[in-house]
Amino acid sequence: MSRKPVFQSKLPGGETTIFTIMSALATKHNAINLGQGFPNFDTPEKLKELVSHYLHNSKNQYCPMAGLYDLRETLAHKLSSSYHCQLNPETELTILAGATQGIFTAINAFVHQGDEVIIIEPAYDCYQPTIELVGATAIPYALEAPEFKINWEQFSTLITSKTRMIIINTPHNPIGKTLKKNDLLALQDLTNDTDIIVLSDEVYQHLIYDGQEHQSVLRYASLFKRSIAVFSFGKTFHSTGWKLGYCVAPDYLMDEFRKVHQWNVFCVNSFLQYALAEYLKDASTYEYLPTFYQQKRDLLMDALTGSRFTPLQSEGTFFQLYGYDQISDEADTAFAKRMTIEHGVAAIPVSPFYADRKQTGAIRLCFAKTDDLLVEAGKRLCKM
Ligand code: PMP
Ligand code: GLN
Repeated sequence: MSRKPVFQSKLPGGETTIFTIMSALATKHNAINLGQGFPNFDTPEKLKELVSHYLHNSKNQYCPMAGLYDLRETLAHKLSSSYHCQLNPETELTILAGATQGIFTAINAFVHQGDEVIIIEPAYDCYQPTIELVGATAIPYALEAPEFKINWEQFSTLITSKTRMIIINTPHNPIGKTLKKNDLLALQDLTNDTDIIVLSDEVYQHLIYDGQEHQSVLRYASLFKRSIAVFSFGKTFHSTGWKLGYCVAPDYLMDEFRKVHQWNVFCVNSFLQYALAEYLKDASTYEYLPTFYQQKRDLLMDALTGSRFTPLQSEGTFFQLYGYDQISDEADTAFAKRMTIEHGVAAIPVSPFYADRKQTGAIRLCFAKTDDLLVEAGKRLCKM
């Protein structure tokens, strides 16, 4: 027998994601899973019918590398009217195998070994490993609970001659906060006339509450000139398992992005793209989302009134942070695990989203669930 090859791991610290850990624990203990972010209700019937139609009508071969043109054109119209910008579907949009792939491809396309990428912590978990894989360094800007506000003057001190990219995320996972117009303008001022590229993770663009408008980088012409914005159909159409998304960037950046995309996936799932191109032409298929999810956010908050959990403000996403300092002084991961095992409700701790595992005294609950499940989870948590 020959020996196993010796290799050096590119991600030596590589841990299993907290989403996988908490979902496995929820399954093992038969707990209600308000941890990993996915709806427990299904994709809309009409969309499933369209998918089935195209699957059975020969839309099963490769589509163009950048994605089905009809889908890109529909998206360009939708984004142009929502965010008041002009987009060319030929050169400025690419369909992705989920937002994660777009983030991976964008970092690989623009970030070189030795570069620095500023991330805002708590940071969605795929940013840092992807930055490490290209031999660059993630420079964290750590937000402080409970406000989680960016002080742009402090933020600016992190910029060096090595800063190649800044990653933002709004609405923000896991904290549920949104960036405001003044944040986008501050970022625009900070990056004007620099070589910094902004990667804007906007997968929760439609999940925004209390009458707010989503502040996309697409709204700000100077900022958009240096930006790649990434979106996901998984969040919009209750189809997280489809892994389909899209990204938008000015043509000179998209050109470079596609050089990597071409060797990364070439093109993505064709019949889903035909179905989505048709489904998306009707704006009512997504315009109901803020009301729909706001009602769920409020239902869970009502169900927890009388509990010893303290809700933090959720302005967007399908997540809300809840403080637990009146219940326990345990670290958040230990608390979330004990809550799953002893009280039958799984949550996601916030510390895994900070490189130094900072404690915020809060856990994340996902309210993308049917009302009966949210009410039952509330009953269980009120007993803690
Ligand atoms: N960014 C954020 C902030 C997310 O929450 C998620 C998924 N939950 C993604 C990116 C990845 O999206 P996708 O599943 O389309 O890859
Ligand atoms: N984005 C989802 C969440 O925040 C999980 C995605 C995943 O499991 N990788 O819960």
